[in-house]
Amino acid sequence: MSRFWNPILRDLKPYVPGEQPKADRLVKLNTNENPYGPSPKAIAAIQAATSDSLRLYPDPEAVALKKAIARYHGLALDQVCVGNGSDEILAHTFLGLLKHEKPLLFPDITYSFYPVYCGLYQIRHELVPLTDDFTIDPDDYRRDNGGIIFANPNAPTGLGLPLAAIERILAANPDSVIAVDEAYIDFGGESAVGLIADYPNLLVIHTLSKSRSLAGLRVGFAMGQRELIEGLERVKDSFNSYPLDRLAIVGAVAAIDDRDYFEETRHKVIHTRQEMTSGLQALGFEVLPSQANFIFVRHPAHDAAALSMSLRERGIIVRHFRLPRIDQFLRISIGSDAACAELVTALAAILKG
Ligand code: PMP
Repeated sequence: MSRFWNPILRDLKPYVPGEQPKADRLVKLNTNENPYGPSPKAIAAIQAATSDSLRLYPDPEAVALKKAIARYHGLALDQVCVGNGSDEILAHTFLGLLKHEKPLLFPDITYSFYPVYCGLYQIRHELVPLTDDFTIDPDDYRRDNGGIIFANPNAPTGLGLPLAAIERILAANPDSVIAVDEAYIDFGGESAVGLIADYPNLLVIHTLSKSRSLAGLRVGFAMGQRELIEGLERVKDSFNSYPLDRLAIVGAVAAIDDRDYFEETRHKVIHTRQEMTSGLQALGFEVLPSQANFIFVRHPAHDAAALSMSLRERGIIVRHFRLPRIDQFLRISIGSDAACAELVTALAAILKG
């Protein structure tokens, strides 16, 4: 703590992202990146825009990108807000839509950035425990609240919540914003975007980091009825008028418009997930049924932290969270077929001792 700091910083526990190691030879299955790379059309668009035009500011409204998103999801332009990664969109959502006198509710096990935003923006919140099998029970969200946020599929469990359950939460809380973080939705979940027309309190948040393989470009967006989007735009325009640069805007548009590449690569990830699930089950691991581009696994006879260390010694990194209820699990991203096969082989050798 420095005497120069805003006192809020003293108690802040900043988010710690998964390691981005310097060594190239590591098999990196720790931050849910997509092994297939962005659409070649996105790369070509970014290269074409890498020109003298970079001396000019980008379009502050990123209209070209909003149009591509609106087209893809069947929405109007004013139902979309774009930002520098969905983390930025989430931050604006916490500040602009989820901060009220009544407490914000979110699951005890979820994306670990949520409590960090609550700390930064001083948002009263209550954790709602997931059930014993790590699912969300909509009835647990029938209590006084100033907003609700959860990830679907959830992170780091990978478990999906059916639309009917989301609709029950929406209907039971007409006076609260319900934010659904769908970072991993394209790997098997049911998107809530189709409910936006019926629920003015629904905000759905997407990212291009996972299923479009553009984590390095930093593009995320929120979708909802105009009233919610206007609120987010007010925060955005009070924070950074140009969250998306010229390269990000053209790259994101090309990636969203390249539906064939998107379909092909997301299905490859889903297929590899099935293969890796079977491989690990054969080794005695319990694998939660994942709808995401990662799996959440534990072994009844082996400590998760020790397994993670042994993998690291073999040049493979996965994510282990030292958190209550989940400290015996490993979160393993779905990589290429070769990377996943290497992981299964390594775990087989480690278990043999
Ligand atoms: N939501 C969830 C559930 C995530 O796991 C992540 C990735 N860490 C994000 C949002 C943020 O993704 P990005 O900022 O790359 O869009």
